[in-house]
Amino acid sequence: MENIQMVDLKGQYEKIKAHIDNAVIECIASANFINGPHVKSFTRALEAYLDGASVVPCANGTDALQIAMMALDLQPGDEVIVPSFTYVATAEVIGLLRLTPVMVDVDPETFNITADLIEQAITPKTKAVVPVHLFGQCADMDAIMKVARKYNLYVIEDTAQAIGAIYTFPDGKTAKAGTIGDIGCTSFFPSKNLGCYGDGGAIYTKNTALANKINVIANHGQTKKYVHKYIGVNSRLDSIQAAILEIKLSYLDAYTSARQIAAFRYNEMLADVKEIITPTLVPYSTHVYHQYTLKVKNDLRNSLKEHLEAEGIPAMVYYPIPLYKQEAYTSISSISGSLAATEYLCSSVLSLPIHTELTEKQQHRIVNAIKSFYKKI
Ligand SMILES: *Cc1c(COP(=O)(O)O)cnc(C)c1O
Repeated sequence: MENIQMVDLKGQYEKIKAHIDNAVIECIASANFINGPHVKSFTRALEAYLDGASVVPCANGTDALQIAMMALDLQPGDEVIVPSFTYVATAEVIGLLRLTPVMVDVDPETFNITADLIEQAITPKTKAVVPVHLFGQCADMDAIMKVARKYNLYVIEDTAQAIGAIYTFPDGKTAKAGTIGDIGCTSFFPSKNLGCYGDGGAIYTKNTALANKINVIANHGQTKKYVHKYIGVNSRLDSIQAAILEIKLSYLDAYTSARQIAAFRYNEMLADVKEIITPTLVPYSTHVYHQYTLKVKNDLRNSLKEHLEAEGIPAMVYYPIPLYKQEAYTSISSISGSLAATEYLCSSVLSLPIHTELTEKQQHRIVNAIKSFYKKI
């Protein structure tokens, strides 16, 4: 039987192989490994894709978040509001910079942080908030920006899972994920919606002065050769990865459509399975389905996962342990209010395979395996 994977990077590569292979060989032959021409051309292409926001490429999504916070001059002890239901990187860089992560709950319907939950967590020390557009759908940025402006907070969007998602403001205007707050951060980790063949990341901002500072910080704080204005980091996107990303960016919208078609098909196929809840679609954002994440009722998540695995179908739990319960974070973070939704989600979410190569036939197999689980119990 055909092997089903969470993400089929090999299948995706096969379809663009000739193009990619040429670009990689060209990079190697030119020996322009660092800051080669593709780094510039990919950066310009991503800026165009993001409707003119400035882009600074860097080594990975975690660095993107760290550099963003360094550029905003946040000081030790400043509080940064983050969702307690997210990937660790979001809180990690806050801790590294000796800032205080303030963990707030998420809306169990959307998996995202809300303006109300943010407002309740604000103290005189709060300096920034990091909305994470989890699983590929934007948090409600209009409401979040209003709270942030009211309290004079920076907004750093963690858009590692939502590149290409489109947010619609109440007046009908639209913006790409990551271009609404002060800074947007993304990752090109291979399995992300725009993934390279190694590590990569980028920082976006519409503020050109800030973009310059971010660029300097990502390059050893160097304003001119051997002149260092800030303590920076060494965080670069290498030329080979940029060449690959430049090609893959031209397919991003098609990749997004493929994910959406697969997700809508799951929604239909699973509509009559009452024991699971399919992902909510909000009116203010498209969903780029970095993950297709179910909520499994009646405490059966782990048994359903085991059943699927026994049938040769991978399924993953993003994320099994709330951040504030992680040993590294319990003593440095502060908690705002109840984190009941995070607790509930950690014990009930299950992500099904979703990727650009997923076929209807594979989805039938996956859904049949889910249905057979509920027949069996
Ligand atoms: C992947 C991811 C990151 C980190 O990106 P890396 O490139 O792996 O460093 C940060 N935040 C979220 C929400 C992610 O999914």
